[in-house]
Amino acid sequence: MVTKQAYSFIKQLPKVDLHLHLDGSVKPKTLLELARAQGVTLPTQSIADLSSYMSVGDNCTSLAEYLRPFDLVAKVLQTKQALERVAYELVEQAKQDNCAYIEVRFAPQQHREQGLQLEEVLNAVMKGLTKGSCMFGVETRVITCCMRHHDAEVNKEVIRVAAKYLNKGLVAVDLAGDENSFPTSLFRDTFALANQLEIPITIHAGEAAGAESIKEAVKQLGAARIGHGVRLTEDDKLLHEIKKREIPLEMCPISNLQTKATDGWGHYPIRYYFDQGLKVTVHTDNMTVSDTCITKEFSILMDHFHFTITELNQLTINAIDASFLSFQEKKTLKQKCLKQMKKQEQSFPMVV
Ligand SMILES: [Zn+2]
Repeated sequence: MVTKQAYSFIKQLPKVDLHLHLDGSVKPKTLLELARAQGVTLPTQSIADLSSYMSVGDNCTSLAEYLRPFDLVAKVLQTKQALERVAYELVEQAKQDNCAYIEVRFAPQQHREQGLQLEEVLNAVMKGLTKGSCMFGVETRVITCCMRHHDAEVNKEVIRVAAKYLNKGLVAVDLAGDENSFPTSLFRDTFALANQLEIPITIHAGEAAGAESIKEAVKQLGAARIGHGVRLTEDDKLLHEIKKREIPLEMCPISNLQTKATDGWGHYPIRYYFDQGLKVTVHTDNMTVSDTCITKEFSILMDHFHFTITELNQLTINAIDASFLSFQEKKTLKQKCLKQMKKQEQSFPMVV
């Protein structure tokens, strides 16, 4: 465990969260309030008990098990008001950890059970993010997710709608869901459309499946970034190619441990990747499902992998470079974060 003093110092560092799922980060209190207002039945009315239904804990055995809490939350995220609210609250949560920028991802096709159109879902989320951004000063962008268990036509519709919002709040498309049951190679055709429409791509890969999934994502699907990439260690040749091409790895340590992408910190390759010079970035994945925040993720790195404050800041710089922002936007964001880092540098020796 890092000291309380070190934790609060890490909390103040400027940060960037590029891998953050909207539906995996809904607060238990919000779920309870939305369910009451909408007449949705929940397994419990106690916030404390509800938290245990919404998060997986350390005893989670697989990615498939990790994905189960999402079904509960999806029940209340079927209206514009609910989507706007959770998006706004996500920005508020990010601010608490001093995030300067977040890329928020979600699968709009999962929010049409009560008749919402994909565009209405996107508009509602973007409205909440914009309000949050104005209120808390955190820059936000959207990534929409295709789902591995959905039909190709549904996923292609998500991509076509994403194209309409590209550079109007949306910056990329993703592929999420059960990587083990639905291999990356099944989605060549779907992502050919994204490439054709020139939408940047990030793909969850090397989490529940091996290095071949990462290879497929990069070489066949055209991924510019990889979500997780924990199992890249299985293929040395590919690892060197990912390094050479500076393809960022969006790593989410606590989630990666919970989904059993790694069987313990002793085997988690983050320090190895970082020292090898790979473009490692660190994120939360799902703040509620994983019961985490980016400060907690950073403190794990300090505690288990001996990252220094300077190295933690380097992860943030990597994340800015890896973001789907424009060149000028990245430059502005980097200047802002570097200024804060420099100011904080003077008090380093007191806490580390
Ligand atoms: Zn994810």
